[in-house]
Amino acid sequence: RSKRRGRGQITVYSQEIAQEMKRATQLEQALRNAIIANEVDVHFQPIVDLRNDAVVGFEALARWCDADLGYVSPAVFVPLAEERGFIESLAETLLRKAAHAALSWPKELFLSFNLSSAQLMDPATSSRLLTIINQIGLDPRRLELEITETAVMADAETAQKIVTELRAAGVRVSLDDFGTGQSSLGRLRDFSFDKVKIDRAFVSRISVDRASEHIIKAIVSMCEGLELQVVAEGIEDFSEALKLKALGCGMGQGYFYGKPADAVATMRYLSDRYRGVAAQL
Ligand code: C2E
Ligand code: MG
Ligand code: MG
Ligand code: MG
Repeated sequence: RSKRRGRGQITVYSQEIAQEMKRATQLEQALRNAIIANEVDVHFQPIVDLRNDAVVGFEALARWCDADLGYVSPAVFVPLAEERGFIESLAETLLRKAAHAALSWPKELFLSFNLSSAQLMDPATSSRLLTIINQIGLDPRRLELEITETAVMADAETAQKIVTELRAAGVRVSLDDFGTGQSSLGRLRDFSFDKVKIDRAFVSRISVDRASEHIIKAIVSMCEGLELQVVAEGIEDFSEALKLKALGCGMGQGYFYGKPADAVATMRYLSDRYRGVAAQL
């Protein structure tokens, strides 16, 4: 790039911005097409009971690999769908696939599904989600919805209404990425949740600094008092798992227990696990 200041630089920046916009639009078009073609997929990551390592449910995670663009992270395409106003159709495709897959699992396992902030700002969300799982035949008591503090904060009143309606129908709600947003404690008091998911940032530092250990300990004890379940996210090795167990954390999720896998691999994972359980009986 030229060292010259002034007009030249402005041209470089505006070209970069134009490039960026072009890429976003290309991404948007490809994503819209992928949704229509039913090519956006959903993978599942196990959530386990840390006391006995039994699988208790799976989190659904959106997956999209475009022929030209390659793998695109949901952290990129979910916000894009929100911005461009088609999160609803993306979410519907994903929930349909996820709920359908969950029908093949043992009935005691739950399905955890992420809600985006735009969905939490739309009062029609609760009835839309309930209609979908009703059509598919998934018991609402097997569904859990993950929401973040940031999403709740965007429109707290509407979010509260949606959460109340869903919980009245038997759906459980968990607070995702706990510890990373603002006003965490206030949210816990004002909102009715069932579960808290401790962000991976704390879990991944548990072996290197004592502070994270103390923070997790405090979250666990607070959740006990509030009668909330606790899940630790991002457990990557055995020593982290042992530490979290020792801290009294009830549930865990992470590469140590299983990476997100497609519906077929998930059935295989379950059949291996359940064969083990049957052999013990
Ligand atoms: P999240 O809901 O907090 O999901 C957890 C993320 O951590 C996932 O990334 C998962 O693959 C990753 N992860 C799980 N265990 C480990 C571990 O042991 N180590 C490490 N390093 N990572 C781990 P992913 O799938 O890339 O999703 C990123 C985010 O995108 C999600 O964060 C969620 O906010 C969003 N997202 C994914 N799928 C959906 C969806 O269907 N709908 C909505 N609204 N958002 C979604
Ligand atoms: Mg999540
Ligand atoms: Mg999370
Ligand atoms: Mg996260």
